Amino acid sequence: MSRVYNFSAGPAVLPEEVLKEAQAEMLDYKDTGMSVMEMSHRSKAFDQIIQEAEKDLRDLMHIPDNYKVLFLQGGASLQFAMIPMNLMKNKVADYIVTGQWAKKAWQEAQKYGKANKIATSEDKTFSYIPDCSDLPISEDADYVYICENNTIYGTKFKELPNTKGKDLVADVSSCFLSEPVDVSKYAIIYGGVQKNIGPAGMVIAIVRDDLITDDVLPGTPTMMKYKTHADANSLYNTPNCYCIYICGKVFKWLKKQGGLEAMKERNEKKAKILYDYLDESKLFKGTVEKASRSLMNVPFVTGDPDLDAKFVKEAKEAGLENLKGHRTVGGMRASIYNAMPIEGVEKLVEFMKKFEKENL
Ligand code: PLP
Repeated sequence: MSRVYNFSAGPAVLPEEVLKEAQAEMLDYKDTGMSVMEMSHRSKAFDQIIQEAEKDLRDLMHIPDNYKVLFLQGGASLQFAMIPMNLMKNKVADYIVTGQWAKKAWQEAQKYGKANKIATSEDKTFSYIPDCSDLPISEDADYVYICENNTIYGTKFKELPNTKGKDLVADVSSCFLSEPVDVSKYAIIYGGVQKNIGPAGMVIAIVRDDLITDDVLPGTPTMMKYKTHADANSLYNTPNCYCIYICGKVFKWLKKQGGLEAMKERNEKKAKILYDYLDESKLFKGTVEKASRSLMNVPFVTGDPDLDAKFVKEAKEAGLENLKGHRTVGGMRASIYNAMPIEGVEKLVEFMKKFEKENL
């Protein structure tokens, strides 16, 4: 068996210990004689899995009691509609558009009310986070929306926007559990789990409980009401059981690593290795303004698309996979989520140095 260093933006690398544990339990989970994949979501064994997963996540993020944790299906993209359907009481919301995912969320919200684009960084191909200290927040805005880490462009909000008292909703798909957050600063914090936490097919939404009501937009499907899932502890219908199980294991792994403070330290160390090299390289160039650099997604280019393609091909041959940039931007992108070991980043930089020598 040989495993590669997988720099995919998602679905992405998982901790090897977690995969091995899951493998050991694949045919017989804790003497149940069956796999978690084969287990009823109403069984005692699964009940323990989902309850422990929620408890461990609450511990890791210090989630206050007045927030519900929901394990939902439909991907992060379904939240682009669910958020306005549940929150747009005044039919007004303000969006900060810092990349494709924020743009998609903003476009989706326009179906349900007035979605204002109050700031954007599109003028410079989303290579920075705009100043959000004094935004034209709408007086009747139901919420202000951000995508906190922009997976495609490799930017991250280093400070939350000043929402002037309005509720903040954040998509944290690509920075989930990568560093500590103050949940109380958000109305909703949500993300697809397939980058930093588990397999694809699930979203975790952490929702302040006063926002969980029957007062949703007319026509909102039952499955798209937060209340439906909150009332049933994420078991209204059959959830993504196996995904919840793996996420639960990742939460335990994160606790063992020392929690989110320790992950932040480790992620900063990993990102620094790559950014320091990009700053000194004569061949490769980071594409993001320094102040906005993500710890999770690091895009870079040589400036020559043919050379970029050669790099991606040769890197793959050297066991460094999925370094091609997003199809909308080209170049390269290294996603270095929680589960990417430091040696993976060191190997990448070593390879980049060799490639630079051979191709400059
Ligand atoms: N939001 C962000 C920041 C993402 O990176 C992605 C996917 O890459 C999405 C949303 C969409 O996620 P999903 O494919 O789960 O709908």
